[in-house]
Amino acid sequence: CGQCAAVCPVGAISERDQIDEVWAALDDPSKTVVVQTAPAIRAALGECFGMEPGTLVTGKMTTALRNMGFDAIFDTDFSADLTIMEEGTELLTRLKKALVDKEDVALPMFTSCCPSWILFAEYFYPDMLSNLSTCKSPQQMMGAMVKTYYAKKIEKKPEEIVMVSIMPCTAKKHEAARDEMNDSDAQDVDIVLTTRELGKMVKQAGIDFSSLADSEMDAPLGLSTGAADIFANTGGVMEAALRTVYEIVTGRELPFENLHVSPVVGLEGIKDAEITIEGTVPEWSFLEGVTVKVAVAHALGNARKLVDKIRAGEAEYHFVEVMTCPGGCIGGGGQPRITTDEVRKKRIAAIYAEDEGKTLRKSHENEGVAKLYEEFLGVPLGHKSHELLHTKYYKKELV
Ligand code: SF4
Repeated sequence: CGQCAAVCPVGAISERDQIDEVWAALDDPSKTVVVQTAPAIRAALGECFGMEPGTLVTGKMTTALRNMGFDAIFDTDFSADLTIMEEGTELLTRLKKALVDKEDVALPMFTSCCPSWILFAEYFYPDMLSNLSTCKSPQQMMGAMVKTYYAKKIEKKPEEIVMVSIMPCTAKKHEAARDEMNDSDAQDVDIVLTTRELGKMVKQAGIDFSSLADSEMDAPLGLSTGAADIFANTGGVMEAALRTVYEIVTGRELPFENLHVSPVVGLEGIKDAEITIEGTVPEWSFLEGVTVKVAVAHALGNARKLVDKIRAGEAEYHFVEVMTCPGGCIGGGGQPRITTDEVRKKRIAAIYAEDEGKTLRKSHENEGVAKLYEEFLGVPLGHKSHELLHTKYYKKELV
């Protein structure tokens, strides 16, 4: 049914091939064609060319995109860092309202990066929609920034830009087409390709992928930190958020070895962790001594179990990450097939290696994001952010 097709992240029900639309845009001299690639792509695209699962191909992928004629190559990692700035601020704001102002605010807050999870909640948990973070996903945040901030920089109108996304799942095609994502002056994202479609396109272009030299993504929206890389793994969005939130509140690094929140790392279906906040900076003193409780679920069966427990008052958390695909986006339905647990583990390890290899590993350290706030957005959760980076959810009925 239409609903299942919309929620289905693995594209088993329908997958609309949009490669020709991208070639047409690249052939149109009146268009500036910008591409973004999600964190999970870099650990899996190589499999389309016979490489081992978990081979990192970030640099080769960038060169291939440049050779195919894209005008600018940006990283969804950039907007993942931006998401953490917005989502982390949203979480702290909700905690302040609950603990200081004693307002009746919706907690736990749920992540909102995964469009299949959003649809699942809209159909099956409409009473909990206020618990979902209002942040658009990193894919949509990038589109919104390209059509406004970047368009202004390159002196183009939003309609002269075609925003293409390379994503690990087919649900992102549905997300890009949601009315709520297209209610400003321009559509955030115009065309979404899966990892497999990109692999096909590279072959159509006759590019010998394995022999490509590495290159870097473009500034300013191609800069990123390790925190953004780990969005690809189950538990990664949570860890990225905690790295920033803990440091904002205490002025110190998250007290986990190598910054990894080990209880939420790995393929267990439901994971949780507790962190007691001690030594806050004055602005966040209301959090002194508070034990922040977080949970992570991947695959919808696990999400259902976790949400049912929360709804029944049998479990209490402040922040919950839900990803629909087993293993998170590294196991997305648009990734090269077949995805076994062994493949998932290799891709997960590659993503953590990418994170650990970066000098900057916390979203608030991304200088490009800091500049974006300075030049354009103002402050996280400010007026412009609300207008461009946040969204609404609606109860949906099965017919
Ligand atoms: Fe798409 Fe990632 Fe959600 Fe899977 S977990 S549906 S790949 S966003």
